[in-house]
Amino acid sequence: MIKKLNDLAKRLSRKVNIMEVCGTHTNSIAKNGLKSLLNENINLISGPGCPVCVSADGDIEAAIDLALKKDNIIFTFADMLRVPGRNGSLQEAKASGADVRVIYSPLDAFLETGKTNKTVILLASGFETTAPLIAVCLKKAKEAGFKNFFVFPVLKLINPAITALLSEENKIDGFLLPGHVSLVIGKKPYSFISKKFNKPGVIGGFEAEEIVAALIEIVKQLLEGKAQIQNAYPAIKEEGNQTALKMIEDVFEPYDAVWRGFGVIPSSGLKIKKEFREFDALIKFNIKPCYGGSLNKACKCAEVLKGKISPVKCPLFGKKCAPGKPLGPCMVSSEGACNALYNYEK
Ligand code: SF4
Repeated sequence: MIKKLNDLAKRLSRKVNIMEVCGTHTNSIAKNGLKSLLNENINLISGPGCPVCVSADGDIEAAIDLALKKDNIIFTFADMLRVPGRNGSLQEAKASGADVRVIYSPLDAFLETGKTNKTVILLASGFETTAPLIAVCLKKAKEAGFKNFFVFPVLKLINPAITALLSEENKIDGFLLPGHVSLVIGKKPYSFISKKFNKPGVIGGFEAEEIVAALIEIVKQLLEGKAQIQNAYPAIKEEGNQTALKMIEDVFEPYDAVWRGFGVIPSSGLKIKKEFREFDALIKFNIKPCYGGSLNKACKCAEVLKGKISPVKCPLFGKKCAPGKPLGPCMVSSEGACNALYNYEK
């Protein structure tokens, strides 16, 4: 398959930039050493699909403030713990006595709520793949009549970010689109990429051969001057998973969310609907995140997340910033471009 891909790539008249939108792809591409196998005409660049990386400073800092309050328990995914904010990280808050716990599924936080009198706050990061499960938790919390369960949603939607990327100057020739998000939203919502922006996009799985299969289709389209949305991940339906989409729609509504590196992107986040407001941590604790720009001015996560630079162009990469002492979220998360590059390609 690599030979087939490279033979096609040799026929391209120039080097093309293909963005893998999703952090899971970024990790798999690095782990499998795919970049080292590709013809020089294919340049893979990472995009804004790592949920930890795109969570804004202000949200992380608000979560730390909540964690430091007596009788609060913060539940969140492991990578969120190490993201640095102005006043340290959730991990440092934990070390100083805050009750911060790692979840493998949002349901872990829900199940714990029934066993404790403390206030449970689920810091919910993720994309369309995670949102249905958070929605299930909120519905179950309503059924159970929980008074001590709250969700701090930092959920994001992928297509508004792709729109934001394509609406400004960019060097992207095509997209490798995420299989798991597409299982939820389907193929149809990506049609703007081809129709409005005239770029090809192919939905791919996360195994090496699935990624290569999708890249073959992208390069074929570029050779033929086509810009279509294709599916190289068989389970995807045109209209997505209606049950999961209904679950999201019942509980959440889009709002203009703040993304690290991008700022505000219209209708790019999910906030809790008024029917479930009694579980909204933002309302309960009167949280007003302070989005004051990047913590570390030398950190280039903003450019990395937009695919404008490779992590190696950051002056801190591998020097002051490494997975053991990350200065930005792109080095924290296993789905971050800096972390993947450091761990597998450096
Ligand atoms: Fe930020 Fe570290 Fe990546 Fe540089 S190497 S962009 S400091 S996370």
